[in-house]
Amino acid sequence: MDLIEKNVNGLPLLVTPNIPCVHAFTTRFGGVSEGAFASLNLGENRGDEPDAVRENYRRLKAALGIEKLCFTKQIHETTVRYVTSVDAREPFDPLPYDCDGLVTDEPGLGLIIFTADCIPILFHDPVHKVIAAAHAGWRGTVGDIAGRAVEAMVKLGAKPSDIRAAIGPGISRCCFETGPEVPEAVMAVLGREGLEYIDGPGREEDKFFVDLKGVNRALLVRAGVEPDNIAVSDECTMCRPDKYWSHRHTGGLRGSQASVIALL
Ligand SMILES: [Zn+2]
Repeated sequence: MDLIEKNVNGLPLLVTPNIPCVHAFTTRFGGVSEGAFASLNLGENRGDEPDAVRENYRRLKAALGIEKLCFTKQIHETTVRYVTSVDAREPFDPLPYDCDGLVTDEPGLGLIIFTADCIPILFHDPVHKVIAAAHAGWRGTVGDIAGRAVEAMVKLGAKPSDIRAAIGPGISRCCFETGPEVPEAVMAVLGREGLEYIDGPGREEDKFFVDLKGVNRALLVRAGVEPDNIAVSDECTMCRPDKYWSHRHTGGLRGSQASVIALL
């Protein structure tokens, strides 16, 4: 199952019918930022004009009908934090915690994570009404943040077989070239099954290509999510610099996509 592009109240976003609550993966389109940040930059600390970022958030919240947002301060680890409206912030407000995932059972609260090559994952259990959002770079991926998010949802009453998940646009196996440390870590977490997600070595003997979306999907299945309940974007952020920011493609001068989900 792939994601579909949809104009949501004037904003072009990616969604999946697999997830029946309010959710979206953003693209570069529909905002007011300029230059390297054109146009829907949702990253607060990339060097963009704060007023432009605030306006981009206003548009995203208005399009989705979300009033309160909870943010992450991502550090490529696997902490999934339970949040409530007490934790809601405006863009540029200080955040008193670090984490790469958020989970809640509170209606109306938007959970938001940022990516620009890393893999965004959204989760929803529509039966038990629990949601989560996770940022999975390669370290978070092999650290099984996908499984940790499922665990955090189960603590709030969710059932893995009821969870719907969506893996959004990120750097794909066509472009994610790595040293041996990434395939080694994939093999450590998945065993021989990991070979399915590794290509190489290539022209250089110590370089490999790794499918982080596939690894996250495998870890979701291992955590008990039904394969038919997982949507996966087929878009690569590095192959589509017109549509997405890619950290690798830009060398770091870039905005950020956001992925957001709310029980609405
Ligand atoms: Zn690519």
